[in-house]
Amino acid sequence: MSAIELHDVVKSWGPARAVDGVSFEAAEGSLLVLLGPSGCGKSTTLRLIAGLEQPDSGTIMIGGADVTHLTPARRRIAMVFQSYALFPHLSVAENIVFGLRVRGVSRAERDARLKRVADIVGLSQLLDRKPSQLSGGQRQRVALGRSIIAEARVCLMDEPLSNLDAKLRHEMRTEIRSLQQRLGMTMVYVTHDQTEAMTMADRVVLMRDGRIEQNGSPEQLYSRPATPFTARFIGTPPMNLIARDGGLIGIRPEHIRIVSQDGHPARVRSVEHLGADSIVVCEIEGQPVAVRLDGFSKVAPGDRVTLAWSRDDEHQFDAATDQRAAPMPDGMKQVAAG
Ligand code: ADP
Ligand code: MG
Repeated sequence: MSAIELHDVVKSWGPARAVDGVSFEAAEGSLLVLLGPSGCGKSTTLRLIAGLEQPDSGTIMIGGADVTHLTPARRRIAMVFQSYALFPHLSVAENIVFGLRVRGVSRAERDARLKRVADIVGLSQLLDRKPSQLSGGQRQRVALGRSIIAEARVCLMDEPLSNLDAKLRHEMRTEIRSLQQRLGMTMVYVTHDQTEAMTMADRVVLMRDGRIEQNGSPEQLYSRPATPFTARFIGTPPMNLIARDGGLIGIRPEHIRIVSQDGHPARVRSVEHLGADSIVVCEIEGQPVAVRLDGFSKVAPGDRVTLAWSRDDEHQFDAATDQRAAPMPDGMKQVAAG
């Protein structure tokens, strides 16, 4: 039994379908990331799971029970939003236990849970402070603490890290992931950031225009993208797509090398040095091709270079169907590779 199941869920605003026949399942104790560009329907999907919106049609199950028509309170799930409104006049401790107090949980029980949760989110030393005396990351952790103290089995998060700077975002995604695993929570985590999806998720559901583009493990989305859209959404820089023979060949920048002979002649357009590696944008037959090279590359714009990659790293897409082409049988592949 899956902890969360959506079956053919539809939600429209006027004539526009924000969620257009979405079905997926999140396994008990797993972290599922809803990924996709802005406006693709991630937040609406999350709000449907929470019960903050009603679907036009379809079914939502939590823990095997049909909750499609239950109020949010009766679904017993915790939520963290991007704008994590804290009560400014309450201390960190009071903010965290607020929900328990409302529900009439005893003082002793509240104190015991507060101690545990404060430890987990690293706020034990800051419990007496007011939100105004905290950094952005610390406030985010108060919001996290407030949601996990409820000990709900299911936790929904909507872009909870987007207000934080890059370094803190990196720390927090590691913390959220380890917390989710330690507590065995089932989590649905919304983000437009493919790095968050790749690093945190057991399963990624990539959305586009209200529909699911691909549903799989991070590894599957990276190594076997079903469509050019997935191919370019996952990975930085995005996969190169080169038009050829009525189809598209996809090749990731990290799978291309500069060689001294036997490859594709190319001209360097631009070079970007990132420190650990360099992104070199070249041109093959008029088409741009990004190459990721280790270290500080010495090539310069205007240079003529030869690019090579392994046949095994090529992805083929059918231009007519916009889908991954069926893989060639092994025998054919050997012939093709010569
Ligand atoms: P995402 O979270 O992926 O950025 P949303 O789920 O917020 O996308 O929005 C999906 C689509 O639904 C967008 O076109 C958005 O404008 C529309 N939408 C979302 N909420 C509402 C609403 N309350 N009223 C009307 N349109 C909405
Ligand atoms: Mg959103």
